[in-house]
Amino acid sequence: MNFSYTEEQQLLIDSFNRFLDAEIKPIAHQYRDKYIDKELAVELQKKLIPFGIVNGFVSEADGGMGLDLVSYGLMMHDLAKASPDICITTQIMGITSKLMAGAPENIKSKYLPEMMAGDILGCVGMSEPSGGSDVASLQVKAKKAGDVYLINGEKTWISSGGYSDFILLLARFVEGDDDQGLGLILVERDDGYETSNLNKTALNSQSTAQVFFSDTKVPAHRVMVPAPKAMAHMMKLLSSSRPIVALMSLGIAQAAFDEALAFAGERKQFGSAIAGKQLIQAKLAEMRTKLEAGKLMALKSLDMIDRGEDPQLQAAMSKWYGTELACEIVADAVQIHGGSGITKEYPVEYYSRAVKVFSFTEGTTEVQKLIIGRQLTGLSAF
Ligand SMILES: Cc1cc2nc3c(=O)[nH]c(=O)nc-3n(C[C@H](O)[C@H](O)[C@H](O)COP(=O)(O)OP(=O)(O)OC[C@H]3O[C@@H](n4cnc5c(N)ncnc54)[C@H](O)[C@@H]3O)c2cc1C
Repeated sequence: MNFSYTEEQQLLIDSFNRFLDAEIKPIAHQYRDKYIDKELAVELQKKLIPFGIVNGFVSEADGGMGLDLVSYGLMMHDLAKASPDICITTQIMGITSKLMAGAPENIKSKYLPEMMAGDILGCVGMSEPSGGSDVASLQVKAKKAGDVYLINGEKTWISSGGYSDFILLLARFVEGDDDQGLGLILVERDDGYETSNLNKTALNSQSTAQVFFSDTKVPAHRVMVPAPKAMAHMMKLLSSSRPIVALMSLGIAQAAFDEALAFAGERKQFGSAIAGKQLIQAKLAEMRTKLEAGKLMALKSLDMIDRGEDPQLQAAMSKWYGTELACEIVADAVQIHGGSGITKEYPVEYYSRAVKVFSFTEGTTEVQKLIIGRQLTGLSAF
């Protein structure tokens, strides 16, 4: 067991952080709570490509960098620390690329090269207004009509939906009166879907959108995963990306911790810096310890995946625990700032809004605990 970075990982992280300081942090500052339009979103992703972070999941044979997931996760942590918003767009690029790399050859050869170059942006459509946790009950329909599918219904909460050139859509496949279960199909923007960005309390620099389909005609040869296999396919994918979500939230928590530590050193009360007060030191000690614990759990999950082990239990544990620890750390960072912590002048108020999102995405805290419980007992409590 080795807890140090390899020389290669250290070099990558160092050069990535120099890039973040020069190219990402100024944009993140300028666009805090302001929408980054598609042109800039694409430009930023193209700049990130040489580090392997956009297509890190994809093998070299398929035009990616074939990075190990530990390196990828470390970079996502640091990208989220620099900009949670830009990191979400990058994460979606990673997930869509990974799905595309496993697609049938006709689809993969058409879309993957453009994705690897950052020329087109995709998104993943699972959640619907009627619910996100209960994936098996999804209602958007893909009805077979000759050599096309007719898509009807609405998706919501779709990251990068407003930017997307295509959506990888999890839909209920229907042939005649036969409900065949969930399949995954690629729908191009030009096939005719509409998007509308959601107005959230956090992460408004990037697109989270509703996506509407009304008799949208999609050629049958764009089925990525046939029904009913798509649900299991997506759940496997989520197992590998959940520890990444934990690391992203902990990246935000690390940024908040750094702010709190600096603030505590400067802010004087009762004649001296609050950093010297025992109760503030206790908070800082707890925050730092939680950062370490959350990060180690997530990195262990990624290391397991890199070594070909089943990550489901570890990934669920690291996702719920890491994201909840991150919320606690950021809440303490706000507390250390006193009243200043809720003003726009200090970034911790922004971090406190952003960090909460990660305890919902890719399976809520409650869903992770139910996955763990099912693994431990063999009984489903969903
Ligand atoms: C910023 C953002 C980006 C997102 N990006 C995407 C995306 O790109 N693509 C996509 O498809 N989705 C995306 N999502 C959706 C996300 O995956 C869902 O929010 C999540 O799955 C939860 O679904 P829900 O919000 O409908 O909550 P619900 O499923 O309605 O759950 C509501 C509450 O009930 C709890 N709950 C549900 N079932 C149970 C149970 N059996 N026992 C106990 N408690 C339960 C949940 O934990 C939660 O606390 C995004 C969400 C956000 C906030």
